[in-house]
Amino acid sequence: MVLPPACRALLATALGLAGRHRLPRHHGNRRPAPPPAPPRVPAGRAALSPAPLLSSPLFSSLLAPLAARLCSGAGGEVGAAGSSEASGVLRHLLLKLRATGPVTVAEYMREALTNPGQGYYTRRGGVGEDFITSPEISQIFGELIGIWYVSEWMATGKQNAFQLVELGPGTGTLTGDILRVFNQLASLLSKCDVSVHLVEVSPKLSTIQAQMLTGGKVQSNPENISAYMKGISKTGIPIYWYRDIQDVPQGYSFYLAHEFLDALPIHKFQRTEKGWREVLVDIDPEVPDQLRFVLSPSRTPATENFIQPEETRDHVEVCPEAGVLIQRLACRIEKDGGAALIADYGHDGTKTDTFRGFRNHKLHDVLKAPGTADLTADVDFSYLRKMAEGRTATLGPVKQREFLKNMGIDLRLQVLLQNSRDSATHEQLLHSFDMLMNPKKMGDCFHFFALLPHHRLVRPIKKDNPQSKSPLPPVAGFGELSLK
Ligand code: SAH
Repeated sequence: MVLPPACRALLATALGLAGRHRLPRHHGNRRPAPPPAPPRVPAGRAALSPAPLLSSPLFSSLLAPLAARLCSGAGGEVGAAGSSEASGVLRHLLLKLRATGPVTVAEYMREALTNPGQGYYTRRGGVGEDFITSPEISQIFGELIGIWYVSEWMATGKQNAFQLVELGPGTGTLTGDILRVFNQLASLLSKCDVSVHLVEVSPKLSTIQAQMLTGGKVQSNPENISAYMKGISKTGIPIYWYRDIQDVPQGYSFYLAHEFLDALPIHKFQRTEKGWREVLVDIDPEVPDQLRFVLSPSRTPATENFIQPEETRDHVEVCPEAGVLIQRLACRIEKDGGAALIADYGHDGTKTDTFRGFRNHKLHDVLKAPGTADLTADVDFSYLRKMAEGRTATLGPVKQREFLKNMGIDLRLQVLLQNSRDSATHEQLLHSFDMLMNPKKMGDCFHFFALLPHHRLVRPIKKDNPQSKSPLPPVAGFGELSLK
């Protein structure tokens, strides 16, 4: 793919400039010795070899071996938390299970992650503590995503306003890197009214985001708007926080979900001789206060609704909340324009048992001490495509290493290497590049997927419109980059 001149110029400007103002994320720290190889990586996040030292305050103490949220497979056998620390969520669930019987895995996951008082994300959030994500590894990641949005804004006619809507922004690092690119491209965006809208369920993480993005200068429960908090970014852009995508105002928007969909609750199903059964969570009658998986004795509403007649796998995971979210995004994009970029680990409807837990960078038994560990499952991109229901076009999934390469990560690395003088920074830059791009690390496990208005890919046929003959600008990231 050859980028049009406007996009080429954009890429060159953004790739060249942004690095002058910011040191690489791991600048100045020494890298610890590589951790011993994990005994086994049954499921998800492979242990990361040499852990980068991170310079942000949140991660400066993070010298231990890191585990990223990687790949998939059956999980939950390793690293159980002691039952002595029965979590608040566990106590709550035990009462519920005794009173009303087994719950679905989706209900279990929802309680464990987002229970209003005790859920994992509600109380602590874990980014950096239990797992590490691409934006936390290198500033380049967020910068390239920022360029993607600006290039889509340019390709769709440089409208005079857009909303950047991020779902599950974690520490706010990714938004911060994107806003830095917007600031670098201020001359281009000067006539555009940009606002940022963050959908975040965790009070703790929203405070961290507010600190990171606004220096903590925020107003809680502002009047007359649906946001629960608002502030102004360090670069002067208004930022709003919401608990649900439905609270975000309608309008021309660019949506971002990075490692968000994998945190939404899944249903699990098992094929048996008697037909499909749903996997449920129940109390283990053999061990006090311990949970176990059981199969529903008969079909459940979820088996009726979520298993496709043509399904060939014996074990299936379905995330209806992700489906509803995609439907909502597709409706909004169809109506108001914009685009959605979704990046996560996942598959195209081929994998089976990917439900797994992470705590302190180690695999964690999903049924132990719920609320104290991150629970996650691979995203099924084929399901997301189906849920868009043709309202928008979809692109991908493409592997992270392909997307970043197409976005010009090699050039950006060269600029940062040229701008840095000391060998420790060079080493850190190369190390984080390897983490993001190496197929055995994050390069192949993570994928990018996009929702775009149909007219972005196929020009509507209009009589007597000379423009209809000119080719549409290609969508950056999803085709090979050429700067010729
Ligand atoms: N995007 C960030 C963080 C990923 S962790 C990164 O890549 O580093 C998942 C994020 O989604 C956290 O911010 C978590 O609090 C948020 N989250 C999880 N479930 C949510 C829900 N149901 N609604 C809104 N936010 C949620």
